[in-house]
Amino acid sequence: MAHGPVEPGGRGGARAASPFHCPYCGDTDLWPREAGGWECRSCLRAFSLQFLGPAAPSARTPEGGAS
Ligand SMILES: [Zn+2]
Repeated sequence: MAHGPVEPGGRGGARAASPFHCPYCGDTDLWPREAGGWECRSCLRAFSLQFLGPAAPSARTPEGGAS
């Protein structure tokens, strides 16, 4: 009774991506908050992840040299 491939941890896709490291202290002791977002138990900071949109390859400068 398998209905196609099962995505790992995917249920509806409404959940935001879970961070692997704290963006402030780099610790991995992250816990989800009921109000949304994540909190770091190491530095006691709460933050949230936001998807800003697809990264356009054309927006990147391959040369990277500002003249
Ligand atoms: Zn932290």
